[in-house]
Amino acid sequence: MTNDELFREAVKASERAYSKYSGFSVGAALLTDDEKLYTGCNIENSSYSLTNCAERTAVFKAVSDGCTKFRAIAVAGSGSGDFSKPCFPCGACLQVLSEFCGDEFTVVLSDGAYKLSDFLPMRFSEESMK
Ligand SMILES: [Zn+2]
Repeated sequence: MTNDELFREAVKASERAYSKYSGFSVGAALLTDDEKLYTGCNIENSSYSLTNCAERTAVFKAVSDGCTKFRAIAVAGSGSGDFSKPCFPCGACLQVLSEFCGDEFTVVLSDGAYKLSDFLPMRFSEESMK
């Protein structure tokens, strides 16, 4: 699957966003090492702090399905239907991704592909606790 195809899957996933409070819909498409696709959307809550991001929704779906090895994630977000502006993952999602993904893991946004290490060059990890 190409980065463009993965990004289109993220846009499609954003259509299922439960974003009644912000009106900002986000979709994520997570590609596993064995080419399975898991999508996620943001899921808001009237108690705002319980809102879950699209990226973490996709990761949690995959992990609960037994998949923990990932190649790339695409993220698309918009409040207007225009997905041309990059929607950067938040810190919480980057930390969750870093639990399963190394520095070279690809993050696809509307303006191109990045590496996880571009966003989170240093991070808390299993190694931090030793
Ligand atoms: Zn997030």
